[in-house]
Amino acid sequence: MSYSHQLKLHNNLTGKRELFIPIDPQRVRLYVCGMTVYDLCHIGHARVLVVFDLLYRYLCRIYGREEVTYIRNITDIDDKIIARAAEQGETIEQLTARFIEAMHQDAAALGITPPNEEPRATLHMAQILEMITQLLQRGHAYQGESGDIYYDVRSFPEYGRLSGKNLEDLNAGERIAVEDDKRYPFDFVLWKRAKAGEPQWDSPWGAGRPGWHIECSAMSTHCLGNHFDIHGGGLDLQFPHHENEIAQSCGATGGAFVNYWVHNGFVRVDEAKMSKSLGNFFTIREVMERYQPEVIRYFILSSHYRSPLNYSDSHLDNARAALTTLYTALRGYETVAKAVGTLPEQEAMISRFFEAMDDDLNTPVALALLFELAHEINRYRERDPARAESAAASLRQLGSLLGLLEGDAEQFLRGVANSESAGDSEIDALVEARRVARQEKNWAEADRLRDQLNEMKIIVEDGADGSRWRRG
Ligand SMILES: [Zn+2]
Repeated sequence: MSYSHQLKLHNNLTGKRELFIPIDPQRVRLYVCGMTVYDLCHIGHARVLVVFDLLYRYLCRIYGREEVTYIRNITDIDDKIIARAAEQGETIEQLTARFIEAMHQDAAALGITPPNEEPRATLHMAQILEMITQLLQRGHAYQGESGDIYYDVRSFPEYGRLSGKNLEDLNAGERIAVEDDKRYPFDFVLWKRAKAGEPQWDSPWGAGRPGWHIECSAMSTHCLGNHFDIHGGGLDLQFPHHENEIAQSCGATGGAFVNYWVHNGFVRVDEAKMSKSLGNFFTIREVMERYQPEVIRYFILSSHYRSPLNYSDSHLDNARAALTTLYTALRGYETVAKAVGTLPEQEAMISRFFEAMDDDLNTPVALALLFELAHEINRYRERDPARAESAAASLRQLGSLLGLLEGDAEQFLRGVANSESAGDSEIDALVEARRVARQEKNWAEADRLRDQLNEMKIIVEDGADGSRWRRG
């Protein structure tokens, strides 16, 4: 069905939900701050990956895949990377290559569509040096006594607009001491002079390396132009990182930078802030040992992207139960590929799904609509197979927009990734032994096997065409 989209996004630059109007509808441009690759990705990273994959998929649905350019950078040089490489006795190239590979594996498992480009700081030194030169020429940067180059935040009157802070308040509230040779506490480094033994690049101001903030300004401009549509990232990056990006990019060009700033909320663990020191810090891999990646994705989408996301086992269990319901409805419809919404009853559901998504990507409501379609399948499976099949096709297609329900139903239902539970072949063998016992009318043995399977939390369903099982 055709649906006339009116996508609204909450723009943190204005604090309002606004109709999204691209600068050039033939080329929608999205930049997201990616990972600093010195360790495995955790659940906070998973949220950034999933939320902006959702936005990317949705923009592709509205404008067409060819018309949307999605850039997500990789920070492959910074203090943490240098420290970790030294600790592990490897080069920064070895360390970052390892964690880039791990990130790509995790992203693929979570069903993340690869961005069009993943620019890396170390491969964009020319663009970084060019932007610092522009900032010096335009009077937005200066060189300190040490040789480090700093951004002069007082040269940019709009500093603080994105985060709603102004410099006086910041000064009064935070009392940050002037470090190093900055002229002002909130000035930030653009270029650091080389220290012995650290990776370094030549520059007009001596050998050194870039500050973190400048890389995103230089690479987003390089990939998308001076002025583009959407810049995303976690809420923790709004200040100072994104504030500094605006100061740099607008300072360097004298023109506009980004129209819509979109941030996803924090992740909490059992209602507490997630942090390494609290020991409540989960890598994506740790969670994937216990839950299928699609369950993690569902869990992330079950909260609105701007709300805090609370990680707990019970929330992941709920996500698994929800997907089990949806996949159970899809059983037997593995290959349906009908046009979405051939029936008026279903068109109404689909419209409501798009209305929710157009409303600042309201995934909790969108997911509820998937359950209405699942209910439709279950209700009409026997009575009106065509209607059920049409609902199944819609469920698959709308699920896919969220990056869900793209897999095989039987495989999902069997595949709860629990390293402690029995393997599939072991369960298959018990189910088969039970089938034989039933055939032989050995009811005591069949019951014993069923009890054994139940103890393993395996639910066996007997149908006309044999027995099927799933993890309960
Ligand atoms: Zn960034």
